[in-house]
Formats: sequence, structure tokens, C-alpha cells
Amino acid sequence: MKSSAKPNAPTVSCPICGKHALFGPENKFRPFCSERCKLIDLGQWATESYRIPLAEDAETKNGEDGLN
Ligand SMILES: [Zn+2]
Repeated sequence: MKSSAKPNAPTVSCPICGKHALFGPENKFRPFCSERCKLIDLGQWATESYRIPLAEDAETKNGEDGLN
């Protein structure tokens, strides 16, 4: 039987989020699954204790941002 599917691409577990990440030329963020995870990793290396705003951006409220 002829298979028209793509050949099994090698995948790795993203070091950041653990998702399957394509490990090939198609994934320029390898071994990460996405640009975000790559940036997170780079950020951790650059500034170890830097807190990266991920989904917590939602907490950005401009209520108490008056006088400083
Ligand atoms: Zn990831």
C-alpha cells in the first residue's frame, strides 16, 4: 500500500514545555517547539532570574498607574 503521508519526522520533547517539537530543518526553533519556548530558554540563560511575562500579561491593569 502506498502511503501519501509524510515520512515520520524526528521529534523531540521541547525542553521548556515538553510538547513534541519537530526536529528538522522545518523547525527553525528546534529543539524547541516554538519561538516562544526558544526565547524563554534564551532568556533564562541570559538573565537567570528574569521573570518572563507569559500569560500573566492579562494582569496588566491601568488602574493604579497614576501618580508615581
Ligand atoms: Zn515548547
